[in-house]
Parts: sequence; structure tokens; C-alpha cells
Amino acid sequence: MEIPVRNPRTGKVDDHIDGADTATVMAVAAHLRAGQLQWRALGLEGRAAALARFATALGDHGQAIVAALATDTGRQRIARMELDGVRGAIGGWIAATPGLLPEGWVQGRANPAIRHAPNWVPYDLVGVISPWNFPLTLSLIDAIPALLAGSAVLIKPSEVTPRFARPLADAVAAAGLGDVLALVLGGGGTGQALVDAVDCVCFTGSVSTGRKVAMQAAGRLIPSFLELGGKDPLIVLADADLDAAVTAALRGSVLATGQACQSIERIYVARPLYADFLSRLVEQAEAVRLNVPGSAKGELGPIIFARQAEILEHQIRDAVDQGARVLSGGVVEDHGGLWLRPTILVDVTHDMAVMREETFGPLLPVMPFDSEEEAITLANDGQYGLSAAVFAGDLDRAAALARRLVAGAVSLNDAALTALFHEAPKQSFRESGLGPSRMGLDGYTRFFRRQALIAQTGRPLPLSAFAEET
Ligand code: NDP
Repeated sequence: MEIPVRNPRTGKVDDHIDGADTATVMAVAAHLRAGQLQWRALGLEGRAAALARFATALGDHGQAIVAALATDTGRQRIARMELDGVRGAIGGWIAATPGLLPEGWVQGRANPAIRHAPNWVPYDLVGVISPWNFPLTLSLIDAIPALLAGSAVLIKPSEVTPRFARPLADAVAAAGLGDVLALVLGGGGTGQALVDAVDCVCFTGSVSTGRKVAMQAAGRLIPSFLELGGKDPLIVLADADLDAAVTAALRGSVLATGQACQSIERIYVARPLYADFLSRLVEQAEAVRLNVPGSAKGELGPIIFARQAEILEHQIRDAVDQGARVLSGGVVEDHGGLWLRPTILVDVTHDMAVMREETFGPLLPVMPFDSEEEAITLANDGQYGLSAAVFAGDLDRAAALARRLVAGAVSLNDAALTALFHEAPKQSFRESGLGPSRMGLDGYTRFFRRQALIAQTGRPLPLSAFAEET
């Protein structure tokens, strides 16, 4: 099936993909399963060497990948950062994994004659379904540790941003990884076929699709690792460094046009700081430049997915209808593609969609609070639990408050640090996800099943040891 692809910078359809049907997905999966046997037999060292070649190939094809990614997303610099980040992640995993998994025999505690040893068995074929906001990063973030673990990987990127997949496939082929790593293009139907073809699925995307993927995977009794949406709060306590808090709040909400799962989407400020915080935030927000007409200058790129602009407009309208005021931005601008300047909203309440539903855009609703208890109650309100942020003059006080937040990661005296720092294991709470941590070393160990070898070094017990005796 032919699927049209829109350019987010021009607003025009200028490309298309042929969506892979179920038979194609099954055939690719079968090819990868055959390749995985040899891949696993290579051992960690052999796989690390192959992935190092992949990092080199990504560099060799870097110009084409970045150019396609820039067309997919309308952003140049972040496209380059995605490529650098992925190459860095390959090096990081290669360095972190040797010797990580315990091996060898352990004597039993209850019965010293019995010993056991672990065998770490990777899933044969891991599936990855990724969204449009960071197309390269989120296609490979799970794929790299899965490959290193010994699995083959089948990726389905979003149909909204599929151009990067062509040069990426060239890099895969150049690195000689074509038998264990493949991409299939297509929409939701192709995603469904993928879930039916793999042994474990890593999904990054919305809560509603994540729920469907989890249910389909559960029907097959395969695990699903879900990284879903968020509604991340930022709390600014009265003794916080105001400049630092404003800087982090703006970057955390507006970077990548807010199209990031860990974006700050609600800001709660201690009342004594509220007026100063707002005036500085408005001043800094108004200095943000749209990168139109070209992408060479400016901080703010286009809204990638046109339907997302409707969500932003709906949340602004709904808030204003219920009494909110817009202090900056507020109107989706048509420059061919669609742009929205940082939009600061005040007089907001938790009855408004902008305080409850995921925004995925540069909206900054700000609300004052009178006590830490109130701030915690407001921050913990809602269905999500992805991440959060706390600013305080005293780090221990910030940490104490953070421990009471229902969120898988809390940035202290900064915002959205999970985008910049991947070493700390974290899970997604509530409806923001499911499964073990993608971050930290768990991001690797989750791709293994534990097989136990249990050895009798004494005599096996005879049946008579279990005979009834009265
Ligand atoms: P979607 O849930 O709409 O889509 C995600 C992927 O699932 C796409 O590849 C999509 O294909 C595919 N898909 C759609 N229907 C099905 C189905 N029934 N079975 C299998 N796959 C299917 O998310 P978006 O692409 O809109 O991404 C934005 C969302 O991603 C936001 O909610 C954001 O918070 C979340 N996200 C979470 C992150 C995290 O780490 N927690 C990181 C980044 C984003 P297609 O696009 O072709 O329809």
C-alpha cells in the first residue's frame, strides 16, 4: 500500500513509502531468525566488533542519514545530534557489557551437593516500533543493546518520518548486518504484523497505541517493553535559583518544539517567586526564534506531524475558554509547515486539558502554589508518571520532595535530564510505560531470559525417599 509522506517544513507531500504487508514482514522475520543463530554464536566480542563496524558505517553514511532525517523532522542540528548520539551509544554499550553478566557455578545453600550456573539466553528476534519525534534515536535506542545481547532486531519506524530509514538501511548493509538487523516501513498494520512476528517487542509511542501493542503481545505471551507518553511537571520551590529555573523550564518545554516525551508540560511555582518567574520566562520565551524560512538559524523547528497542531490549538482554546490567559505565543503559524512560538498560559486549573492531557508541543502552563504539600498533590495528579523536575536551593530538600513524586525519573535543579543522561535505570510509572528500564545496564540485561543449569554432585534421591511412612 502506498503511503504519502508530508514534509514538515513545506507542508507538502513530497515522498511516499510502500507499506510492508504481513507476508513481507513474516519473510523478513524468517530471514532474521536464520541469521540470529550465527550472530549469537559469534559471542559478545564478535558482536561488539560488528557493531563497531556499524558505528563506522553510520559515520560513512552520516551525510545522507542526517539529510533525510532533517527532511523528516525539519531540524538540522538535532538531526546531527541524533546521529552522533547513536554512534556514541554503540561505543558506550560496547564498553559497558564485557563481564557484566555473572557466570560460573554457585553452591546451593540448602543442599551444598547441588550447584547451579546461569545461562543468559537472548530473545531470538526483538521487534522495535518507533515514533516520529526522534526517528533515528528511537529506532536504535533498544536495537543496539538487543543486538549486542545476541538477538536479531526488526524495526518499524513511524510512517510520518520514514525517509531516514533508506540511508540507515544502506549503513546496515555496509556493516554486514543485513542478516540480523532490518527495517520494514509502513503504518499501524505493519506494526501489528511485526508484533505477530517477534519474540519480544519494544514500543515507543502513545499510550493508546501502546495499550493495543501490549494486548496483542499478551495474547501471544511475549513481553512488551513500553515507553509511552508523559505530562511532566516542574516544581520550583521558594528558595530556588530563579534564573536557573527559568532557563531549564524554557529549554525543557521548548526544545525540539516540545515534541519529546520528557518535555516539561506543567510548571508549578512557589507563590513568592511566581511574578518574577513569569516575567523572566515571558522575556526569554519572546526571544526564541523560529527557524523560518530556512533551517540554518533559530531555536524552534516546525511541528512535525500536522495532526499534532490540532491538539495544540485545542488545548489553547480549551484553556482560554475556561479562563486562562496567554502571555506569549498562542497561535499556530503557517509558514508552509506549521510553527508555534513558546506559549505561556496562566490562570490555568486542572480542569483544563492543557494540565491533564499530553501536549507534545511548546506550551508552558504555569500555576502558583502555597505549600510543598499542594505542589506534590498537583504534580501527582493525572494518569502519567514518566518523569518530573524539582528546583530548590537545597539539594537534599529537592531530593526529599522528588521521592514523593509518582514519576520514573526526577531531574533535580535541571529539567528533562533523561534526554541527556542515560546511565540511571528508570522505569515509567502509571500509564507512561511497562517493563524494565531502557536506561542504565538494565537496558541490556532485559533482552536475556535466564536459563538455570542445576547440577547434582551427590547421588540422585531414590523414589523411596518420598514414600509414605506412618
Ligand atoms: P503512536 O503511538 O501514534 O505511534 C507509534 C508507532 O506505533 C508508530 O510507528 C506507529 O505507526 C505504530 N503503530 C500505530 N498503530 C499500531 C498498532 N496497532 N500496532 C503496532 N504499531 C502501531 O505515537 P507517535 O508516533 O504519535 O509518537 C508520539 C508519542 O510517543 C507521544 O505520546 C510520546 O510521548 C511518545 N514517546 C515516548 C517516549 C518515551 O521514551 N517514553 C519517547 C518518545 C515519544 P505509524 O506512525 O506509521 O502510524
